[in-house]
Amino acid sequence: MLTIIKNRLEQGYRTCNYPKEKPAVFPRYRGRPLIQKTADPDMVKTCADACPQNAIDVEKKKIDMGRCIFCGTCERISKGEFVQFTGDFEISTATKADLVTDGNLPSLAQHAKQHFKKLFGRSLQLRQVSAAGCNACEADLNVLATPFFDLARFGINFVASPRHADAIVVTGPVSRNMKTALLQTYEAVPEPKAVIAVGSCTLTGGPFYESPEITPGLDTILPVDLFIPGCPPHPLTNLHGLLTFFK
Ligand code: SF4
Ligand code: SF4
Repeated sequence: MLTIIKNRLEQGYRTCNYPKEKPAVFPRYRGRPLIQKTADPDMVKTCADACPQNAIDVEKKKIDMGRCIFCGTCERISKGEFVQFTGDFEISTATKADLVTDGNLPSLAQHAKQHFKKLFGRSLQLRQVSAAGCNACEADLNVLATPFFDLARFGINFVASPRHADAIVVTGPVSRNMKTALLQTYEAVPEPKAVIAVGSCTLTGGPFYESPEITPGLDTILPVDLFIPGCPPHPLTNLHGLLTFFK
């Protein structure tokens, strides 16, 4: 006990103050893209041709954050004259269509499923399903349980059984081999329940898009309520999505 008190006095309180204060993110972090609508169309086309994810809509001058892996190629090629990635990590959306953006995102707090706040606002139990993820999305969800993020202080926990869960959190491109297990897990969660898609793999197939071995977006097989983009999404993006959608 004395050791614990000594450690606390030495180290202070390490849990971040989010959502009251936004913690600083790593300077090279790429968050919400800001599009310059006046950008030269030829430059936009060059960026689109170089994009490994086919995520740039040349006509509308928008980026599909569901496909984007935030590699920064378009920002580098255009020298920031077409797109600049900001440090804003609050980029989750309640619909897939809203992921296609010029930088303006609708308020997640105003989403249509307000009843989720009443149902799960005080207690939200999550079952994570890694449906063939590379483990980066999973690791950045796992880190939410550490003292810095301390997810449990908001009444949100990861549980072992889907029968104890209110929602499933899916990562990975849902490979053919994982599809049945995922659907069975979803069935095992009692109603009312929510589905949260985390990472570009789950949203659109990510780096594996157009592969016949995966599902082209979780929303094609399950009713997704919350879309969290990134490859992987920053832990604060996950935290923002969960708190704003459910709290
Ligand atoms: S940052 Fe996104 S939109 Fe830009 S090139 Fe990479 S994947 Fe494509
Ligand atoms: S979205 Fe990126 S980080 Fe997440 S599982 Fe897919 S490849 Fe890995």
